[in-house]
Amino acid sequence: MTAMRWFYSFLKKHNKSMALGLVLVTVISVLAIVKPIVSGSIVDDVITAGDYSLLPGLIALLILITILRGVLRYWSQVIFETCSQDVLYSMRDTVYRKLLQEDFNFYNKKRTGDLLSRQTGDMDAIRHFIAFVIYQVYENVFLFFFALVMIFTVSWKLALCMCVVLPFALLVTLSQTKNGRPCFQKIREQFSSLNTFVQENVSGNRVVKAFSKEEYEIGKFNKENDGYRDAELAAAEIWTKYVPQFEFLSNMLTVILMLVGSIMVIQDSMTLGNYVTINGYLWMLMNPLRQIGWRINDIQRFTTSVEKIYATYSEEPAVKHPKKAIPCRKLQGDVEFRNVSYSADDEDIIHNVSFSVKSGQTVGILGSTGSGKSTIMNLLCRFYDVTDGEVLVDGRNVKDLDLYNLRQNIGMAMQDVFLFSDTVEGNIAYSKPDCPFEEVQKAAIMADADSFIREMPDGYDTIVGERGVGLSGGQKQRISLARALLKQPSILILDDTTSAVDMETESYIQQQLNKIDHACTIFIVAYRISSIKDADLILVLNDGKIVEQGTHDTLLQNNGYYATVFRHQYGDYERYIGEISQTTRKGGGRHGTK
Ligand code: ATP
Ligand code: MG
Repeated sequence: MTAMRWFYSFLKKHNKSMALGLVLVTVISVLAIVKPIVSGSIVDDVITAGDYSLLPGLIALLILITILRGVLRYWSQVIFETCSQDVLYSMRDTVYRKLLQEDFNFYNKKRTGDLLSRQTGDMDAIRHFIAFVIYQVYENVFLFFFALVMIFTVSWKLALCMCVVLPFALLVTLSQTKNGRPCFQKIREQFSSLNTFVQENVSGNRVVKAFSKEEYEIGKFNKENDGYRDAELAAAEIWTKYVPQFEFLSNMLTVILMLVGSIMVIQDSMTLGNYVTINGYLWMLMNPLRQIGWRINDIQRFTTSVEKIYATYSEEPAVKHPKKAIPCRKLQGDVEFRNVSYSADDEDIIHNVSFSVKSGQTVGILGSTGSGKSTIMNLLCRFYDVTDGEVLVDGRNVKDLDLYNLRQNIGMAMQDVFLFSDTVEGNIAYSKPDCPFEEVQKAAIMADADSFIREMPDGYDTIVGERGVGLSGGQKQRISLARALLKQPSILILDDTTSAVDMETESYIQQQLNKIDHACTIFIVAYRISSIKDADLILVLNDGKIVEQGTHDTLLQNNGYYATVFRHQYGDYERYIGEISQTTRKGGGRHGTK
C-alpha cells in the first residue's frame, strides 16, 4: 500500500459527506458565474437598450444569489471541517494503536520527538488539506474551466487568446512542485528534530542543571531553532519566487482582455455588454492562477506529512502476536530456557543460556553490569524474540502463547522505573484500575511502601508527576514493586528493584515475598548477594553466558565469581563458610533449600 492509498482508506469512509460538500461548492461556483451574466445584461439591456423595468428584477436576483452563496458556503465549510476532524480522529487512533503494538527495538531506535511530531504537526497538515485545500483546489479548477467555457461561448477568439497563458502556468506549476518538494521534507525533519530536542531537554532538565550546562543547551537549542527557521525560509523562498510568476500570468489575462477585447469592441466584432461579461469572468480565471503557488505549498506539506506518518505506521514489529495463539489466561509459572541466544545489530548479547525452574521457586540472577541480566528477563516477557533456542513457560514456547495473556501473567518491576502522572493509587492499580483500595494497600504493605505513602500530603491520592517527581529512588522502586505485586502474577520479575532501598527494607520485602500465597515464580536480578542468597537457583552471568549456577551454598563452595562477590560484600568469608556447612546439613531456602 502506498502512503496516499493509506490516507484515502480513511477519507473514503466520508465519501458521501465530501461529495455533498463538493456539490455545494459546485452550486456556489455556478451561482458566481451568473453574476457576470446579470452585469452584462444590465449594460446591454438596461443601460444601452433603456429597458429600465428589468433593473429591479436583476438587482433582486443578484441579492438572492449573494445570500444563497453565503448560506451554502457556511454549510459546505461545516461539512469539510467535520470530515477533516473525523478523518484525523481515526487516523490518530490507528497510528496510536500501532505505536502501542511496536516492540522494544522500535522504541530503542525512534526519537520520542519524531513520534510526537507525527501525531501533532503532521496530523495538522492533513486536517488543513481536508478542511480547506481539497475544496479550494476543486472550486478554483471548476471556476477556471467554467469561466473559460463561458468566455468561449461569448467570444471564442478572445478565449483562445486567453488560453495562451495556460502552457506557461503549467510550466511554472511543474517547476514549483519539483523545487519545493525537498524543502518540505527538510521542514518536517527539522520540526521533528526541534521537538526531540525540547522533549529531551525538558525530561533531562535535572541533568542539565546538575552540570550547569544551561548555556551549552541554549546554544544547541539555537542551532535547532536556526535549522527549523532556515528550512521554513528555504520553502518560503520557493513560493515567494513562484507566487509573483503566477500573479504575472494572471495579470496578463487583463492585458489580453484590454488589448484584444478593446480592439474587437472598436471593430464591432463584440458588444460592450459582452466585454463587460468577459471582464466579470476575468477574476474567475485570475484568482485560480494566483492561488496555484499557495495550493502547491499546501499540497506538498500534506503529502510530506502523510508519507512521514505512513512510514512510521508501516513499520512492523519484529515481536508479533502468533497467528494461532494458545490462550493462557492463568499460567503455572514453570520457566525453561533451552539453549537461548540473542543477538542484536550483529552483536551477541546472550549465548546459549539454559536453565529451568518450577512454579513457586525463586531465581536469583547476578552478574556484572551489561552481562545480559535484563535481556534474559526481556526475552521471557517477549519484549524481544530469541535469535536461537527456546523460552518455554509451562512447557510451551512463548512464541506460541497469546502475547497479551503471557504478559498479563508476568508482573515486572523494571530496572528503569517509570511512574505515570497520576495518583499513587492509580500508579499501583495500573493493571487493575477497578480493584478495591484494600488490595492496593495490601500490595503497598508488601512492598514496604504503605507507611511513606500515608505520610505524603494526600496519601494514596498524591499525584506523582511525570517519572515520579518528588519521590526518592527507593520510594519509586517500592511503588513499582507494589504495582507488579498487585497483578498477583504467576511470574514476578524484580529487575534491580531493591538496589535503592536500605538492607532493612530489603529484608522486610523479602519476608513479604515469602508470604505470597499463590503459585508464583520469582526472578530477582540484583548486585547484592543479600537480595538473592535465599533463592532456589542462582544464575551467575558474565558476558551473556551463565558461568555458574546453583544455590548460594553450592556456589560458595565452588569458590568462583559468586564467592568472590560474596567476599567483597561480606568480608568475613571463612567464618561464613563454617556457618553454611552447618546450615546445609539442616536444609533451607524459601522452598526448603535454605
Ligand atoms: P545492568 O546490570 O547494568 O542492568 P544487564 O546485565 O541488565 O546490565 P542488559 O541490559 O541485559 O545488561 O544488556 C546487556 C548488553 O546488551 C549491553 O551491552 C546492552 O548494551 C546490550 N543490549 C541489550 N539489549 C540490546 C538491544 N536491543 N540492542 C542492542 N544492544 C542491546
Ligand atoms: Mg539490567
